[in-house]
Amino acid sequence: MTAKARNIGIEVNAPEGECNDPYCPFHGTLSVRGQTITGVVATVKMNRTVIVERDYLKYVDKYERYEKRSARYAAHAAPCLGLKAGDSVTIMECRPLSKTVAFAVIGKQKKV
Ligand SMILES: [Zn+2]
Repeated sequence: MTAKARNIGIEVNAPEGECNDPYCPFHGTLSVRGQTITGVVATVKMNRTVIVERDYLKYVDKYERYEKRSARYAAHAAPCLGLKAGDSVTIMECRPLSKTVAFAVIGKQKKV
């Protein structure tokens, strides 16, 4: 496997580690395009797949207030990223990798 990470066309810092996962956006051949979403890793219990949760506010006309909503995305996480639950991550849309996975993790935000 090449040591140099691929340029995936978005301005993100390539992970420091390496891997030989064919579905890694940096070291494999998976291309990412479409939506980019930021969220928090909720679970890392699956093999090379994480659940990313995103909270957002939706305005409700009737009550003139916002309600809290959340959405969960299953995303492919290449081993080079070394994700843990609670990490803030950016995920990007890719081709469907399985029944539920159509996103890949492309970066981890540094803890402040
Ligand atoms: Zn990788």
